[in-house]
Amino acid sequence: MKIGGLQKTTLIDYPGEIACIVFLTGCNFRCPFCYSKELVYDDPNLFTLTEEDFFSFLKKRKGQLDGCVICGGEPTLNKEIFDFCKKIKGLDYKIKLDTNGSNPDIIQKLIKGNLIDYIAMDVKAPFCKYAKAIGVKVDTKKIQTSIDIIKNSSIDYEFRTTIVPEIHEIGDIKKIVKQIAPAKKFFIQNFRNDKDLLSPHFNQVASFDECEIQKVINEIKQYFEICYLR
Ligand code: SF4
Repeated sequence: MKIGGLQKTTLIDYPGEIACIVFLTGCNFRCPFCYSKELVYDDPNLFTLTEEDFFSFLKKRKGQLDGCVICGGEPTLNKEIFDFCKKIKGLDYKIKLDTNGSNPDIIQKLIKGNLIDYIAMDVKAPFCKYAKAIGVKVDTKKIQTSIDIIKNSSIDYEFRTTIVPEIHEIGDIKKIVKQIAPAKKFFIQNFRNDKDLLSPHFNQVASFDECEIQKVINEIKQYFEICYLR
């Protein structure tokens, strides 16, 4: 388990909770629009934190923080994720997991073991475009299985998609809806090019017009309890 970053407080990343975010290194996807290059490539120059220091931080913040967001990279690649979650839960923190959905078995075990309280899964594209969106091949059946596991679980969850020109067309949002609806929450995120992206080409690509995205959201929001552009 390599911890590649810690954000000590967030009021927006864990709905309804004051939380910290712990970033684990490594990812099996290579989304060209990713802004976590150092985490994905496990950059040797990356700031790292020992588990000991992380848990000492959590102990000190008891009473001030409610939850911990486990983010990546892709956290489910870490074999120690179960013990890591158990230790966090042992300190009475709620856990939100951010995942790309590529490891449904791990997601299932984490849910069944009551080791996570909230899950946010990226649905990167319509399945026919998945490889283009993530830069590698993936078995999209696994992505669909993760979607189904999450929807059939009793924990709170959200699906989210970053919509990126040259990868997506606005109409792709409706195709993604077919893969996930009906569901609790679906958030659309407009692509931003203001950080150092995995593919430098995408730093030259402009975002979609938000009004265009909003028009589609108005058509699809009936399929979700909550659905908006963020
Ligand atoms: S955006 Fe893609 S490449 Fe970056 S961490 Fe998430 S899944 Fe991995």
